[in-house]
Parts: sequence; structure tokens; C-alpha cells
Amino acid sequence: MTDLPNQLIDTLRTARHVVALTGAGVSQESGLNTFRDAQVGFWAQYRPEDLATPQAFERDPQLVWDWYAMRRTQARAAAPNPGHLALAEMASLFKSFTLLTQNVDGLHQRAGSPAVIELHGSIQNVRCASCSLHYDSWQETSGEVPHCPACAGLLRPNVVWFGESLPSAALQSALDATQACDLFFSIGTSGLVHPAASLAYAALEHGACLVEINATETPLTAHATHALTGSSGQLLPAILNAYHAAR
Ligand SMILES: [Zn+2]
Repeated sequence: MTDLPNQLIDTLRTARHVVALTGAGVSQESGLNTFRDAQVGFWAQYRPEDLATPQAFERDPQLVWDWYAMRRTQARAAAPNPGHLALAEMASLFKSFTLLTQNVDGLHQRAGSPAVIELHGSIQNVRCASCSLHYDSWQETSGEVPHCPACAGLLRPNVVWFGESLPSAALQSALDATQACDLFFSIGTSGLVHPAASLAYAALEHGACLVEINATETPLTAHATHALTGSSGQLLPAILNAYHAAR
């Protein structure tokens, strides 16, 4: 495991506004397959790009609904890992702490993180494909795509599909927090999916310290103030231990 730089712990001790952006790597450590790796068994015949689109839902809503039902079951069977728990603890350590995630599985909330900003939505709730009303729960009869109680339209997972924009309120909150932060963590994310990936660069432009935690190098690595290579489930608790020990 990478040694923690003393400078990083000093930065953490003096930081007031902290933002963390998490991606698939954090969920992977809870045993959740990435989008692409999830295509096994019956689902191996489909590419995610052919299921996670508005066109796919229009063409075959039942197929798309079933795929998300499978992924929801996987997410519910997974448990938050020490990285999720460390991020939940960080919420109480700074004047402000904003957690942004590209993950749709709800594991941060289950770890106890308050006010998670879900940039790509969540598979744990739905919205109406016709009238856009959101629902946290729904009636499902023998696995059929449920209907909106208000307008009888089809309910769809409340996630961002290929070709769709990020939810504007979530994106604006993410930008506001990023522009105000003095420390930005990019954790378990490839740094390739925009606009979420551009947040780390926006933080740098505003003079924030950028800490990257990832299993491998990414396009962001060369720009990071501190780049830590390894598992977030090990590195984040180690960072918190060092932070507490230094106080
Ligand atoms: Zn509706």
C-alpha cells in the first residue's frame, strides 16, 4: 500500500470545505460488478449501451426493467465497505463535506452518508417516463413494468441513460461545492466520464488540493497533488487514522 504523505494529513487537518467524488471502483470493492462486467448469463447477449438508453426502454421496457431489477437485487445483496464507512465519517469532520457519486447503487446512503449527490441517479428509485414524477416505492405485479399512479405512464429507473443529461440540480450543487472547496478527493473513478470527470479539474483551477485514490493510474493522476494507488477500502480508513492521530 502507498505510504501516506505527511503533507496530505496536514492539508486534511486544515481543510474546511471538502468534496469527494466516487466512482465504480468504490462499489467494486463491495463485490458489485462494473456496468460491463455485470453482463453474465442471460444478460451476456446484451451490451449495456443497448439497455441503458431511452430508445431501449421505448423498444422493450420489460427487458430494460428486468435488467435494472437484476442490478437492484445485486446492489441490495452487497454491503458498504470500509471506504464507504470512512466517507460517512468524514461528513462530520469538516466545516462542510460534500459527497458526489457516479454510483447508482445506494451504498453510500446505507453506510450512513447524509445528503449524497447522485450525479447519475439511483437504481433504488424510479420516475415516470411520461410525467417525470419521482417515486421511492412502487407496486410491481409479477415483475411487470409498474405504472405511474398519477398518469398511468410507465415507471423507469431514476438513472441517467446514455444520451441523457445529468440531473441539473445535482450537477449545479456539485459545481458549487467544487468551486468552494479547498480539498477535492477523486476516488475509484476512471476520470473519463464527463461532465463528472471535469469536476476534479475545476477544483484544481480554483486552487484546491486534489487527492486521487484509484487502483490504477488515470488521466487525472499526473495532475493530482497526491495520487494514491490502491484500494479505497484500505486507504480511506488509513487516512482517517492518520488524521485522528495527528490531532
Ligand atoms: Zn406519470
